[in-house]
Amino acid sequence: MTDLVLVLGDQLTPDLPSLRQTAPGDADILMVEASRETGYVWHHRKKIVFVLSAMRHFAAALEASGRRVIYHRLDQDKPCSSFTEAVERALAAHSYDRIILTEPGEWRLRKEFDGWQDRFDLPVVIVEDDRFICSHDRFNAWAEGRKQLRMEYFYREMRRETGLLMDGDKPAGGRWNYDTENRKPAADDLFMPAPFSAGPDAETRAVIDMVAKHFPDGFGDLEPFRFAVTPDGAEAALEHFISESLADFGTYQDAMLRGTPFLHHSLLSAYMNIGLLDPMTVCRRVEDAWRSGRVPINSAEGYIRQVIGWREFVRGIYWREGADYVHRNAFDARRALPDFYWTGDTAMACLSEAIGQTRREAYAHHIQRLMVTGTFALIAGIDPHALHEWYLAVYIDAFEWVEAPNTIGMSQFADGGLLASKPYAASGAYINRMSDYCGDCRYNVKDRTGPDSCPFNSLYWDFLDRNADTLRGNPRLGPVYRNWDRMTDDKRQAYRDRARDVLADL
Ligand code: FAD
Ligand code: SF4
Repeated sequence: MTDLVLVLGDQLTPDLPSLRQTAPGDADILMVEASRETGYVWHHRKKIVFVLSAMRHFAAALEASGRRVIYHRLDQDKPCSSFTEAVERALAAHSYDRIILTEPGEWRLRKEFDGWQDRFDLPVVIVEDDRFICSHDRFNAWAEGRKQLRMEYFYREMRRETGLLMDGDKPAGGRWNYDTENRKPAADDLFMPAPFSAGPDAETRAVIDMVAKHFPDGFGDLEPFRFAVTPDGAEAALEHFISESLADFGTYQDAMLRGTPFLHHSLLSAYMNIGLLDPMTVCRRVEDAWRSGRVPINSAEGYIRQVIGWREFVRGIYWREGADYVHRNAFDARRALPDFYWTGDTAMACLSEAIGQTRREAYAHHIQRLMVTGTFALIAGIDPHALHEWYLAVYIDAFEWVEAPNTIGMSQFADGGLLASKPYAASGAYINRMSDYCGDCRYNVKDRTGPDSCPFNSLYWDFLDRNADTLRGNPRLGPVYRNWDRMTDDKRQAYRDRARDVLADL
């Protein structure tokens, strides 16, 4: 029996379930740099390099281990436009008994692969991706019957089930969550760890040149390219994070500083998402660092919560909610995405900084995504689907199962509160407290409604006013609406007028 095993660009794990099912002599592995995949959103060019170079390294490692690999490159004579076309070509060249693959990370591809059995008249085996801690069944069993899905309760179950940071059946240190010790602003003279940089090898250099040639007008800078593209490189990035940044990760998790894109963040999401690092291994190493006294518990717990809590939780929601989740639009927001999301060309210093570093590095940390680019889009009434396509394009770690719930649910509240208990709307005061952006901004963060006032200030109240029918009943927003109600009519109107001018300027 010969199987055809399709391995996708975010499935670069030797222990992948579909690979485990087949012996080297009984299967051909198919890997495809499909042109449709590089082009269905306007991906950052660094992201294209990262995935393609990691794929080429993975294919070489498979071959070195005795596997037969059919590999289609983007720069070959007749590249494949899609996975379906690559399978057609494989079947024309050879007869296979089955097609085997590990489930993909998005509905669009799931639908394409679900049609293959009929199309190719062959058994198609799609196996569950067990690189996640929580299976689909486990998540659905947890979610079933709950009126609201809240990450914190899910997270505690994942702690119990994995045993991470547990002393018997009690949370290590006595608490489940140490966030009260986290989330401090950072001083700009604070010692910052240098970010990890792998330095491109010859293969990555070749891919950079190819991407430069194929996508001359593509989004984002190609250099400097600092990401690792192999398991060993990703392991070095993990070690760098644990020794250099983890200790202060929790404390400064939400801080933002001009010219300092990475702070104490790990930059490990992309490696976990494409399979170069195993999330459980990462978490165990973080726990070991705490147990051996190298890092405080607030950082270790904060980090592990992001991975076994948020990362697994958003995935569960993505698959549970179905393919239409990315089209949810609870506030019926219709405004087009402003051009400056692509260019960074705006007088708002916070947005210009977050988008500028996104263009350069294909990276922004969570609070920049949530409270700068995300909050602005939310309070300005930007179409959440357009924003979803933007987030899916511009970050090195962007794959739909994780990007979409973060954008549609957490950041835009477009799912009506399924994932978040209240919208992440905020005035400029939040950004001013957590960053040094406002000091150099053309707008005045203390001014609420004047011509130079920070746009976030008026848009915040205008958003709450526009969506009062939907949001007034939210218990977490009760005090905010009471403040709005206590304002004079003139003051409320001044907010509306200034917001109208800001929106007209977009
Ligand atoms: P760290 O700050 O070091 O965090 C540690 C790890 O925890 C991350 O590597 C990541 O694996 C995990 N994590 C943290 N927060 C989340 C979260 N909310 N959801 C899932 N995992 C989380 N993350 C992606 O991996 N891909 C995306 O496409 C993506 N899109 C996002 C879009 C929006 C609008 C928002 C608000 C968040 C998004 N996130 C996404 C989550 C988070 O911002 C990134 O995981 C994080 O910034 C990656 O950088 P890091 O590795 O330095 O993370
Ligand atoms: Fe952003 Fe407003 Fe601060 Fe300017 S003043 S950086 S627009 S929050």
